[in-house]
Parts: sequence; structure tokens; C-alpha cells
Amino acid sequence: MTEEITVFDRIKSKEIPAKIIYEDEVVLAFQDINPQAPVHVLVIPQNKIVGFPDILDLDQKDLGAFLQGVARVAKQLGLEAQGYRVIFNYGKNGQQTVEYVHAHILGGRQMKWPPG
Ligand code: 5GP
Repeated sequence: MTEEITVFDRIKSKEIPAKIIYEDEVVLAFQDINPQAPVHVLVIPQNKIVGFPDILDLDQKDLGAFLQGVARVAKQLGLEAQGYRVIFNYGKNGQQTVEYVHAHILGGRQMKWPPG
């Protein structure tokens, strides 16, 4: 995967607007522009990772901090009691459309399995 400036880079630099719901030195969380559930939030690492396999190159401490950021955002959204889904799409078959690693947090309704 080649690295290019994505829409999420532009949201991070505040070049384009997004409904930001949480931000710290590790993660940035904002509402998905095309929500697939009553709650649909995207969480990106402040230090860019392009695709899920690039996680193999991360320091485990940085990866842990990112995952904890995702869990912190889900908690802040009040989703813990009812449950929620976290998704990372990767590549063509995974239908990744933005080449900047992002966790989808989906909640507020009953999910189905298997996903489409
Ligand atoms: P992917 O398919 O790569 O896993 O997910 C990309 C997500 O980014 C999609 O759910 C899409 O709706 C969302 N998205 C694409 N462009 C924008 C944008 O400009 N702003 C926001 N907030 N979300 C976007």
C-alpha cells in the first residue's frame, strides 16, 4: 500500500471539518460521515499507520496505547453496557477505502453475524 495524503490526514490537520468526539496525544476519534449504526465513530492513531499489516512494525507499547484509545472512546460513548463492535477493514477484500488505519466503533443497535 502506498502512502498518500488521505481525508483522515486532512481531518487530523483540521483542514477539513469532522465531528470530533475525542482527541489526545495517541488517538483522534470522529463521527463517520456515513453512519451504519446509531453510533458510528472512527478512531485513528495520531501517528499514521496506512494498513492493518503495518501494525507488525509498531512498537507493542504504541499498539497497546492505540487499542486502549479505542476502548476509551467506546467507554466515553457509553457503549459498554449494551456492547459494541470494533472493525478494522484492510485491503480490497476487506473493503478498506481510506488508507489510514482506523477502527470503526459501531453501537446503539443489535449487530448481525456474519457481517456482509
Ligand atoms: P473503510 O471503508 O476504509 O474501512 O472506512 C472508511 C470510512 O470513512 C467510511 O465508513 C466512510 O463513511 C468514512 N469517511 C469517508 N470520508 C469521510 C469524511 O470525509 N469524513 C468522515 N467523518 N468520514 C469519512
